[in-house]
Amino acid sequence: MNQIQRLFDIDPWKIRTTTLDKQNRRLQESLTSMGNGYMGLRGNFEETYSGDHHKGTYLAGIWYPDKTRVGWWKNGYPDYFGKVINAIDFLQMNISINDVEVDLAKQELVDFDLELNMENGVLTRSFTVVLGDAKVRFTFQRFLSIVKKELAVIKMTAECLSGEAKIQVISKLDNNVQNEDSNYEEMFWVEKERGHKEEISFLTAQTVPNNFGIEQFSITAAMKHVGNLEAQVQHDDTLEVSEQFEWQLATGETGEVEKRVVVVTSRDIPEAKQREAAAELLTTYNQSYDELYKEQSAAWAKRWELADVLIEGDDEAQQGIRYNIFQLFSTYYGEDERLNIGPKGFTGEKYGGATYWDTEAYAVPMYLALAKPEVTKNLLKYRHNQLPEAKINAQKQGLKGALYPMVTFTGIECHNEWEITFEEIHRNGAIAYAIYNYTNYTGDDSYLQKEGLEVLSEIARFWADRVHYSKRNQKYMIHGVTGPNEYENNINNNWYTNTIAAWVLKYTLESYLKHQSSATVTITKEEQEKWQDIIENMYFPEDQELGVFVQHDTFLDKDLMHASDLAPEDRPLNQKWSWDKILRSCFIKQADVLQGIYFFNDQFTYEEKKRNFEFYEPMTVHESSLSPSVHAVLAAELGKEEKSVEMYQRTARLDLDNYNNDTQDGLHITSMTGSWLAIVQGFAQMKTFNDTLSFAPFLPRKWQKYAFHINYRGRLIAVAVNEDEVTLSLKEGAPIEVTMYDQTVELADKVSVPLKKEESDV
Ligand code: BGC
Repeated sequence: MNQIQRLFDIDPWKIRTTTLDKQNRRLQESLTSMGNGYMGLRGNFEETYSGDHHKGTYLAGIWYPDKTRVGWWKNGYPDYFGKVINAIDFLQMNISINDVEVDLAKQELVDFDLELNMENGVLTRSFTVVLGDAKVRFTFQRFLSIVKKELAVIKMTAECLSGEAKIQVISKLDNNVQNEDSNYEEMFWVEKERGHKEEISFLTAQTVPNNFGIEQFSITAAMKHVGNLEAQVQHDDTLEVSEQFEWQLATGETGEVEKRVVVVTSRDIPEAKQREAAAELLTTYNQSYDELYKEQSAAWAKRWELADVLIEGDDEAQQGIRYNIFQLFSTYYGEDERLNIGPKGFTGEKYGGATYWDTEAYAVPMYLALAKPEVTKNLLKYRHNQLPEAKINAQKQGLKGALYPMVTFTGIECHNEWEITFEEIHRNGAIAYAIYNYTNYTGDDSYLQKEGLEVLSEIARFWADRVHYSKRNQKYMIHGVTGPNEYENNINNNWYTNTIAAWVLKYTLESYLKHQSSATVTITKEEQEKWQDIIENMYFPEDQELGVFVQHDTFLDKDLMHASDLAPEDRPLNQKWSWDKILRSCFIKQADVLQGIYFFNDQFTYEEKKRNFEFYEPMTVHESSLSPSVHAVLAAELGKEEKSVEMYQRTARLDLDNYNNDTQDGLHITSMTGSWLAIVQGFAQMKTFNDTLSFAPFLPRKWQKYAFHINYRGRLIAVAVNEDEVTLSLKEGAPIEVTMYDQTVELADKVSVPLKKEESDV
């Protein structure tokens, strides 16, 4: 097991520390990131900080096609690697005390306090600096409004505790920003306009032209300051505008300023109108700080009303689940159907803010239960809108149908490693699975009938073309793939890929035959016969003796070992071992066979699930953040309580405890649904297969209680599990039959059944 690294205190609602950890500033920054679905930023300091850190502000949907950089170019490679780009730094407020710049990397400070409040999305930081005779306490508070998405508010106070202090502040909008991970160290921004009008300063910048036909984005930020300011002066420079003011403070006096920033982009407002629009918004958003704060708190409270998962008896677990839900909703709340959920959200550059299969496989199940069906429908529509591009991806590989990309902004693949782009094609199955998931969960088949079938039929065509027939075995096979376990490439007959490919063909055929009269697509008789033949004759590697599905053709010939045999200093493998050694090893990055068993859970026997879990989990190193949740869910079903709780802990506190030693690069946003999945689908065993809602909860030994809400087919249901009983309450909607353990109950108002306590098979 990896070492954990915990920088923040345990608290049910707060992420708080009183230590400025200069060695781990990047990690602190990632963990105190915030977003409002429209924009977001890492937990950078307002004032100068010359120590190691990573400045990052990101705007949803603002990206750049960075020319692909590879060693040997291979036909079919994408031309560019799309990435979210670091955008205007609107936080900056350089401060000096008696002409000495405040820089916490250099100066002695006392009483440092940093706190992100998850209840309302407000970050507060305070510290005292002593410079000569002057002792000044600074407090900063900021939030990105979730009600007025273009608005950021920063409040700063400087209190002179002793001596005399001339405090000078230079507050900036600074677009001289670069991506740390750019392929050619290019600057992605040019200035279009800058200036000051009355008390508002503004800056307009545009992304530089590109050779790939991708639109250039322009953005405008406008700022104004409110407070007891003296000597206000405005400056500007290339890609930068600033306002300077100062206070002359005697002991006991306080200077206070509020910086309000509005950011608009060409995704909503054409460049020519941006300046006016930004100024107008700044003027309209004229409530007092307290009113805006209250509005923000009320809006978050409303989100929490439905989404909160309450845990009694384990504050670490409680903090973990709230942190994940908080960061997920800060990234995506389903308000803009042009957007999706990037694996790092607004918290870092790696994985470039693009869309991955993570959304369909891991986020959709949670959003289905915690948001209105339209939110998930928007996520499905996003893929439907990109069907033409998915067809181009397939053509590029010389194949029919549609191949959804591993990494994308527009539907065009923009991941530049062959083993992913060409081979990790299982992702195409997850897009289809999400259509099934939506239809099955909501009971609404209107999407499936039209857009759904358009997408499914093209994905099915891809699979029908990608399989080949082995005459020797008289079976259809899929060679040369990377399964979900990215620690093996170019393998043959990955059980998961073959399973999901055959399932897509089957589900598409069944859905087509059911909705043929209303379908907007035609699947010819010839295609239907061919697909049926593939379904019936697909090859699925299995080992009779071990009784397991085999990850791929030669997996069992590897040197099979358990992850517990690894020395702690070898973990995580992806940071310690050569890639070659990893590829040859048996160690599994994330659920692979088990991913298939999780998706198609109702199609396997208990014994099959148990044998495969017990065979594969010990070889799994969980070095993808997506991994632990699937294992938590399956372990719970198999009565492996301790394992399930361990996996919950790992998914829930993956970032808070930096399990994979990479949170400094940003948070693992898409896998944050994992802690919710672990509790709801794992501990509570909520299942929704075949039009039946069922629960079979257990209560982790250390916990006294857990409780959550779900939306299900027009109902709002509260679920509470304590040491004695499981209680379901119908908060909204018509009565419904629910299976509790193996008994069917009618839920009209409230039903309680005794908590089943089984001997746990650890
Ligand atoms: C995982 C992929 C995932 C990607 C983005 C990788 O480490 O192996 O399954 O799509 O991260 O989260």
